[in-house]
Amino acid sequence: MIYADTIRALDVRFVRWPLKMKRRHGVGDVEKVLPGVVLRLEAEDGSVGWGEAAPWAVFSGTAEANAAAIDVYLRPLLIGRRASEVARIMDEAAHAIVGHGEAKAAVEMALYDLWGRIAGVPVAALLGGVFRDRIPLSVSIANPDFEADLLFLEERLADGVRLFKVKTGFLTHREDLVRLEALKTRLPDDAEIRIDYNQGLEPYGAVAKLRDMERFAPGFIEQPVKRDQRDAMGDLARAIDTPILADESVFSPAEAIDLVSRRYADAVSIKLMKAGGFTAARTIAAIAGAAGMPAYGGTMYEAGIALAAGIHLVAATPNICLGAEFYTSRYVLGVEILREPIRLDDGASHLPAGSGFGIEVDEEALASVTVDRRT
Ligand SMILES: [Mg+2]
Repeated sequence: MIYADTIRALDVRFVRWPLKMKRRHGVGDVEKVLPGVVLRLEAEDGSVGWGEAAPWAVFSGTAEANAAAIDVYLRPLLIGRRASEVARIMDEAAHAIVGHGEAKAAVEMALYDLWGRIAGVPVAALLGGVFRDRIPLSVSIANPDFEADLLFLEERLADGVRLFKVKTGFLTHREDLVRLEALKTRLPDDAEIRIDYNQGLEPYGAVAKLRDMERFAPGFIEQPVKRDQRDAMGDLARAIDTPILADESVFSPAEAIDLVSRRYADAVSIKLMKAGGFTAARTIAAIAGAAGMPAYGGTMYEAGIALAAGIHLVAATPNICLGAEFYTSRYVLGVEILREPIRLDDGASHLPAGSGFGIEVDEEALASVTVDRRT
């Protein structure tokens, strides 16, 4: 049988996102250009659903591998299938290829977007309904050019942003303290600093360093040590008063079970790219929520499709309540692929109106960054 939502075409594009600014993290740097993957599904009724994979080689996986995972290994699970069969297709995808979470995230996104468009409802409704349509925006301070970052901070404050995540651990501890001091003096009382080490700290001596950081009253300190150093992270969480947030240590629901059973951190960053899609991301949120743990809406270097998907995820998931960072398409990437960019104002990102993700992709802008396309 052929239905309106039967998938008749798939094309996967390997893209190169130009970057407007340098970014530095404990785990590695990003400069000038970053590869990514965009997926387009077309249904029998002509509707289109979009997905995006945003891997980062030092964090999760490569764009080359994720493009091939979709093109070669996941394509056969999609052509001729209905978008609304998403649970069955994603279960098959889990068995078809190990890992490649970003590819699976892209596929699940495109399926939900297509299903929502054809059903005439937003993806957040398919995920359980809209709990919030306004998500406090957290902006990362990560430019190695600190003067540029201070200017960036001023501009974001003028935009109403009040959550700032400072990337630390790529300079000396002393330099980190100087940066934080400079930032703190520029922030109004209602702003909150968070600190993200991106695994950049050695456990040896870490307690004293984090205690130094507590003078800036950070809302949380994220992933101070390597992803596998969970016992060390637990020691830090117990030694300081500030909550510790796990990011790189928790990719999967199984790792979330380990987190809540050992309580080596107080909260978790949830990313569609780490989890490998909506279902796994919402399972991680549910595990954390059942243990009384809040979650944060993290991103990778994502363009508008993945950001819109993340907004629908957070909109429908009550305990992802620590804000989210859905700004890369505006401030970091040098190209906008949405006709109507993600709405960021009043210190928040906002749920787009309309069915599916409520976005329209500018195919010309997308073509300008596409270097390879498989249909
Ligand atoms: Mg992080």
